[in-house]
Amino acid sequence: MLVSKKSKEDQLKNVYVTPVLGAEACDEPIPQFSLPENPLDPEIAYQLIKDDLIDEGNARQNLATFCQSYMEPEAVKIMSETLEKNAIDKSEYPQTADLENRCVNIIADLWNASDADDFIGTSTVGSSEACMLGGMAMKFAWRKRAQEKGLDIYTKKPNLVISSGYQVCWEKFCVYWDIEMRLVPLDENHMSLNLDLVLDCVDDYTIGVVAIMGITYTGKYDDVEGLDRLLEEYNKSHDLPVYIHVDGASGGMFAPFIHPHLKWDFRLKNVVSINTSGHKYGLVYPGVGWIIWKDKKYLPSELIFNVSYLGGSMPTMAINFSRSASQIIGQYFNFLRCGRQGYISIHRRTQDVAVYIGKEIEDTGLFEIYNDGKNIPIVCWKLKANKEWSLYDLADRVRMNGWQVPAYPLPDNLADVIIQRVVVRQDLNMQSAIQFINDFKHAIKELDSAHILIHGKATQNKGPSGFTH
Ligand SMILES: *Cc1c(COP(=O)(O)O)cnc(C)c1O
Repeated sequence: MLVSKKSKEDQLKNVYVTPVLGAEACDEPIPQFSLPENPLDPEIAYQLIKDDLIDEGNARQNLATFCQSYMEPEAVKIMSETLEKNAIDKSEYPQTADLENRCVNIIADLWNASDADDFIGTSTVGSSEACMLGGMAMKFAWRKRAQEKGLDIYTKKPNLVISSGYQVCWEKFCVYWDIEMRLVPLDENHMSLNLDLVLDCVDDYTIGVVAIMGITYTGKYDDVEGLDRLLEEYNKSHDLPVYIHVDGASGGMFAPFIHPHLKWDFRLKNVVSINTSGHKYGLVYPGVGWIIWKDKKYLPSELIFNVSYLGGSMPTMAINFSRSASQIIGQYFNFLRCGRQGYISIHRRTQDVAVYIGKEIEDTGLFEIYNDGKNIPIVCWKLKANKEWSLYDLADRVRMNGWQVPAYPLPDNLADVIIQRVVVRQDLNMQSAIQFINDFKHAIKELDSAHILIHGKATQNKGPSGFTH
C-alpha cells in the first residue's frame, strides 16, 4: 500500500501523493494580472504553467527562426547547474570569467584575427546588444576623428550605411543614437549590398558601413571583400577613413566552418569589428552574442569600464550588467565538445538538408528560388506560377502539419515581392526534411483544389474565410 493514514508522517506523505490535477488549486483560474495572494505548491505551479504553454507549437518544426531549439542533455545539465552564476561578477566567479575569455579568443581565432592585432571582445545577450556596441564604437571613433579634422559635429547628423535588408536592431541603434540611416536599396539583381551604389552614400559624416553576413530576409552574404576594396580606395583619397562592421549574426558562426576561404573577416583590412549570435549557428539556446574588435584602437576607451577582478581590474564593455553566465558556459561547452570538426560536420549536414529542400522546391517548377541554402542554410523563394493561392495560403496550409514557414514581403523597393523562407537548423534532420517536403507538396495539391482561400486574390478576401476542398 502506498498511502497509510496511520502516522503524522504518513499523512504528510498523503499530501505529496495527491495527483496534481486533483488538487483544489487546479479548479481555480490562474490570476493573470495581479499577484496571487497565497503560495502554491511548487509542483502545482509547475504543472499549471506547463499546461499554459502547451499550445505553443513544436520549436523544432519552427522553420522561421534562426535561434537554436536543440542542445545536448549534457549541455542543458551544465547550463542548468550554473544558472546562479552572474556573468558580470568577475571576482566571485573568476573561472567563469576565464571561460568567457577563452570563448572570445576562440572566436577571434575563427575570424582570423592576426597575432599582431590586439583584439578585444565580450559576450552579450545577443547580436542586438553586440550591434549596439559595434555602432557606438564606430560613432565615438568617428567623432574623435571628425573633431580633429575640424568638422561640425554638433549640428550635422552622422550617418551609417547599410543595405535595406538590415535587421531591425540597426534601426534601433540609429534611433537611439540619432544617426541617419543611409540605406542601399536591394533590387531584383542585388539581393545583398549593392556595391555599385554604396559609395554614393558615404561621406565625411559616415561613421561606418555595416556588411551583413547573412541578410535575414534572403540568407545572402554581402560581398565584404568587394566592399573592403571599395573602401580601401576611398580611404586613400579621403581624410576621414570609413571602416566596416560586419553583422555576422548568423554567418559569423557558419562561414568559418563551411566557407573558410571566403574573406569577410579580420583578414580584410577595413573590417574593424564583427558580431555574432551564439544562439544562432553558435548552437546555444538564446541568449548569447559576441562582439570582437580587431584592435583595441577601434574601441574608444570611453566605452570601456573596469570592474574589480581578483584584486586586479578587468575591462567590461557590454551594456547589460547582471545576467546569468549559463549561456556563456553553454557556448564554451559547445566549443569544447564539438571542436572545429564537430562544427563542420553539424553545419555540413544542416546545409545538405537546406540544399535538398531548395532543390525539391525548385523542382516543383512553381517557384523562383532566391537562396538555395548554399550561403547560410536558408532557402527562400517566391511564387512564379500563376495560382489562385498566395504564399500566405501556403504558409497557413503547412502550419496544419505543425510547420512554421512564414511568408513576408521583402524590404522597401521590393515590398511587392512576397517570399517564403525556411531556416534550417541542426535539429532538422534529413528524415524530417523529407516529411516537410511531402507535407509541402501535399499542401500545394490541396490548395490547387481549394474553393476558398483566406489570402488569395482580392475578390476572395471578401468571402467567408476558411478552407474547403
Ligand atoms: C538575428 C539577427 C540580429 C539580431 O540578433 P539577436 O541575437 O536576435 O539579438 C541582427 N542582425 C542579423 C543579420 C540577424 O540575423
